[in-house]
Amino acid sequence: MQKRQDIDIETRQYYHQANLVYISTIAADIILIPIIFFTGSMVSFFGNLIGMLIALVAVYLNKKKYYGLSALLFIGVITALGVLQVLLFGLTSGFMYYFFNMSVLIVYTKWRPSLKFIGVLIEIILFGVTFIYAIYNAPFYPLELGWIIFFHSINFVLNITGVANSAYYYIRIAQDAQKTLSLLATTDYLTGVNNRVAFDQFMQKRKDTFNHNKRPFGLLMIDVDFFKRINDTYGHGCGDDILKGIASQLKQERGNQDFIARYGGEEFVYVIDAFDQQVVLEVAERLRTKIEQYAFSYQGQTINMTISIGGVFVTSNRTTEYEWILAADEHLYEAKAEGRNKVIIKTF
Ligand code: GH3
Ligand code: MG
Ligand code: MG
Repeated sequence: MQKRQDIDIETRQYYHQANLVYISTIAADIILIPIIFFTGSMVSFFGNLIGMLIALVAVYLNKKKYYGLSALLFIGVITALGVLQVLLFGLTSGFMYYFFNMSVLIVYTKWRPSLKFIGVLIEIILFGVTFIYAIYNAPFYPLELGWIIFFHSINFVLNITGVANSAYYYIRIAQDAQKTLSLLATTDYLTGVNNRVAFDQFMQKRKDTFNHNKRPFGLLMIDVDFFKRINDTYGHGCGDDILKGIASQLKQERGNQDFIARYGGEEFVYVIDAFDQQVVLEVAERLRTKIEQYAFSYQGQTINMTISIGGVFVTSNRTTEYEWILAADEHLYEAKAEGRNKVIIKTF
């Protein structure tokens, strides 16, 4: 199982990424604001200083889980500074890029879709208005060419990096979420081992590799003996606990190559890579004695369990995985009929 933290997409999506954006903006401000001071534009200097303080408030609100409000404050102030500085320094100063970047951030917020739409629309309108105004009017505070090149480059790099980083981050979240979901979809909820879906997928692949390299393997069907009695005597809670215990005991035995899954109810399947039947038999015997000797405990009572195992040692590729499972099942019934707590494995 993945850690809870990884599953908590909400926190990652709205807290960590927003926090990263706000903190990097504040860090960039710490470097840029003293530089802006030397342009002599006090409007830009104090504007950016206020912007940085608002970004700090956004960090605080974000921490307090006011995701929507913190985003509104941050996006609002950065947009306002964009408008202000385009008017101050002109179009070539590169402050236009912030409208684009903020539109992307709006899409990633926790706002309702209609509000996101309005937000992006406002960015477009503000872009249009400032663009047209700046085309027809001279900047309020014209800068020397060196400053223009400096600001344009910095703004370009900051905005491109910001947008690329957001896109990368959200792809990562989506991939992680997909991994978590596929893990949940292939894990048995009660015992934590692979479930039937995972087993079917595994057998499909195992059959392909078997057809390819002809390496034989063992397939075991494991069924808990007299399990119904446990439920009837101690209740289903106890039954569940014992199933978990058995799964964990079986899991402990598995080597790197072995595969274990809950086939259904109180039945498990176990696949062993082995070159001869003796190895499969030894593993199966080890599993059987392990359960036989293990003392399960439930609410202070000690309960002993046994398992029966039917298996096939697969060497022939003229058969299908359904036939292997069917044959293992037949051997399991033989083991049951012969008194349970028994292993029967035959070559297939
Ligand atoms: P046998 O030795 O012949 O295998 O006898 P058995 O009692 O183990 O077999 P049977 O098929 O009669 O009963 C299996 C029981 O397993 C019946 C069902 O209620 C119980 N069972 C199946 N899945 C679960 C589960 O997830 N939790 C619990 N507590 N019981 C389960
Ligand atoms: Mg049973
Ligand atoms: Mg059964």
